[in-house]
Amino acid sequence: MTTKQIVLAARPNGTPILNDFRFEDIELDELQQGEVLLQGMYYSVDPYMRGRMNEGKSYVPPFELNKAIEGGVLATVLESKSDLFKTGDVVLGSLPWSEKMIASDKNLQKIESTVESLTYYLGILGMTGLTAYFGLMHIGKPKAGETVVVSGAAGAVGIVVGQIAKIHGARVIGIAGSDEKASLLKQEFGYDDVINYKTTGNIKNAIANLCPNGVDVYFDNVGGEISDAVIQNLNFHARIALCGQISLYNSTKIPLGPRIQPMLLTRSVLMQGFIISNFQKDFPEGIAQLSKWVNEGKLKFTETIIEGFDQLPAALLGLFKGENKGKMIVKA
Ligand code: NDP
Repeated sequence: MTTKQIVLAARPNGTPILNDFRFEDIELDELQQGEVLLQGMYYSVDPYMRGRMNEGKSYVPPFELNKAIEGGVLATVLESKSDLFKTGDVVLGSLPWSEKMIASDKNLQKIESTVESLTYYLGILGMTGLTAYFGLMHIGKPKAGETVVVSGAAGAVGIVVGQIAKIHGARVIGIAGSDEKASLLKQEFGYDDVINYKTTGNIKNAIANLCPNGVDVYFDNVGGEISDAVIQNLNFHARIALCGQISLYNSTKIPLGPRIQPMLLTRSVLMQGFIISNFQKDFPEGIAQLSKWVNEGKLKFTETIIEGFDQLPAALLGLFKGENKGKMIVKA
């Protein structure tokens, strides 16, 4: 049986381009005992994949040149030689960007959806929802009446962070890249106010104006000059949950920003980076809490679903142009 896959054709120099990817037709092997034949349905595209396109050591190994890109995929079982899964089951796994694929049953999770959409398992009840939950609850620790600032606020992680902070009684200010995103965050997701960083001249002053009592928690998804501006407004004993630095992922040289250590020192600020897998043993608790809030209507979510397997590379590049609201997903 032949299928189409997408491989890493070249390591990007700076911002990735479509030519860094290549489509190939491949022949699938015979199904072995303990394996399933899968049909990909929904493919997650995530900023961390940009890091895997580079060579070098990180917390996940780089994608190999001329091998299929890999990421979170929701797939249907077409054929099974596994005792764990039967034809028609829906599974989630870290799988190749391939229309069909053979996978070992050891690395798959069966999905039995109790919420309105299966794709929630790539977003609010998946990696990005858990990132929002653990980063905010374990590092940010917002208290009622405090002010929380979230960068990358209209993305998959940011949309959830703001709502969890509101559930805990905080005032929440977002930073996002368009007026449309700002309105969505305020009207649908409970953000108290939002700064459009692309049209706001002085972000430091804009934050000072919107946060007259200073910033107690900063959930940082983007880094760079946006974070420099937020950090100038931190309160004594503020906490920074260092989640992502997307503004720097395509940099060939990391720009030198202001020296922030004196500010962190004199204001007794905690700044802690984290990788979601640090919290793996607590995932069942995180999923249970997120599901409860979703089912109670306290946590809402949105997705940008792009149609067509062939759109996967463009969708990944779109994350760096702000083309998504909420979780970016490709539907095959
Ligand atoms: P998003 O859904 O937020 O998508 C990326 C968004 O980033 C874009 O929509 C865009 O929105 C914004 N963006 C892109 N380039 C820039 C830039 N130069 N400056 C400012 N904003 C930019 O992605 P996720 O929610 O999945 O991830 C958010 C962050 O969290 C990423 O940095 C990611 O790497 C990180 N992350 C970390 C994890 C961890 O374990 N620590 C796990 C998951 C994610 P806009 O229109 O606002 O510019």
